[in-house]
Amino acid sequence: MLGLLLARAGVDVVVLEKHADFLRDFRGDTVHPSTLEVMHELGFLEAFLERPHDKARDIRAVIGGSEAVIADFSRLRARCGFIAMMPQWEFLDFLRDEAALYPNFHLLMQAEATGLIEADGRVAGVRARTPEGDIEIRADLVIGADGRHSTVRDAAGLVARDLGAPIDVLWMRIAKHPTDPSGATGRMGTGRFMAMLDRRTYWQCAYVIRKGGNETLRERGLAMFRADIVGLVPFFADRVDAELASWDDVKLLSVTVDRLDRWWKPGVLCIGDAAHAMSPIGGVGINLAIQDAVATANILAKALADPQVTVQALTPLLAQVQQRRTFPARVTQAVQVAVQNRIFDPLLDSDRPPRVPAVLKLLNRFPALRVIPAYAVGIGARPEHVHSPAVARAGLRGD
Ligand SMILES: Cc1cc2nc3c(=O)[nH]c(=O)nc-3n(C[C@H](O)[C@H](O)[C@H](O)COP(=O)(O)OP(=O)(O)OC[C@H]3O[C@@H](n4cnc5c(N)ncnc54)[C@H](O)[C@@H]3O)c2cc1C
Repeated sequence: MLGLLLARAGVDVVVLEKHADFLRDFRGDTVHPSTLEVMHELGFLEAFLERPHDKARDIRAVIGGSEAVIADFSRLRARCGFIAMMPQWEFLDFLRDEAALYPNFHLLMQAEATGLIEADGRVAGVRARTPEGDIEIRADLVIGADGRHSTVRDAAGLVARDLGAPIDVLWMRIAKHPTDPSGATGRMGTGRFMAMLDRRTYWQCAYVIRKGGNETLRERGLAMFRADIVGLVPFFADRVDAELASWDDVKLLSVTVDRLDRWWKPGVLCIGDAAHAMSPIGGVGINLAIQDAVATANILAKALADPQVTVQALTPLLAQVQQRRTFPARVTQAVQVAVQNRIFDPLLDSDRPPRVPAVLKLLNRFPALRVIPAYAVGIGARPEHVHSPAVARAGLRGD
């Protein structure tokens, strides 16, 4: 997204992606109302919504058999009162196709950043490994948007503070049958929780376990694990044996919550999970990363488009990006850590059926209140709007 916004502002941009494609399924599928607003501001919304997706107008929880609506996005005063459930590769492919219309946008696939080039006391570029050999790219600014195991932040010596995550996630696909319900749900049972994302032909399931608990779970055996799943989702009884035929069908994803104290140093800036790794709780990490990108472009695009730009001129702007985005990252992570510690931690140790929390009873009684969690998840703290300039794309796509 930042590559697109900067190219749109006339900046010469190179995006490095270490994989050969965006076809991975473990980063979540949620395109939030605030991101959809950004897509509208960019003039992309209609074309974007033509890509295959489902509209999640609410989030539901099934707790010990009773269902409750947690968040109702249709109550938001937003252009799109829903979360577009779209596989992330569709979203990234769309952004890539739009960005590729700018001749100053360059995407290098299978190009893995391996280190930074330093010169005159600043970061002056990046080194990368490609199938054709190692390359060096000199740049006025390197952005580390390379996720929670960021090479850029490590190479820059930026240190993350671990905020603690007592949970990990087991990630698996289970076929969806026409008779199944639709939409995003979280299912809570005795000592167990599983989130289910509706991907039309299958359910992407995220089963929460205690951090480090994977070995114990495997020792109990696959049959017990399948029984746990059916305990949470009875309609999986007819397919769980075939869908989870071996442990190879179950991937362990480790959860991290951390944040850099300092997101930048001269010549380099980290954003998204590289600056603040998000827990999957609430499914808001993608939204935060997009909002970071929009804010970064708003603050930096004009300066970066100036061919005479100096590191002295850029450095205070990097600090401005951190200043603007620390608050939403801090607030969101605080809520995620509180949910991890107060809900999941006790739940995973419990041998009693969970009770519907008082707050859910309140939301059931006063549905209008469901707009509050909808705002927290769908819009989030300090939503950003596109103010970065756009150069003409004369002659492109009939413009
Ligand atoms: C199990 C799990 C489920 C989640 N579910 C959701 C959800 O449903 N909704 C949601 O909003 N959030 C979810 N999150 C959080 C979300 O995945 C992240 O917050 C979000 O993806 C961060 O975006 P990003 O662009 O900063 O980093 P990433 O999405 O991690 O993207 C980083 C990119 O950089 C590439 N890369 C990495 N290293 C290099 C390198 N050295 N050189 C070149 N390229 C590199 C990677 O291949 C990747 O394409 C989930 C997290 C977990 C752990």
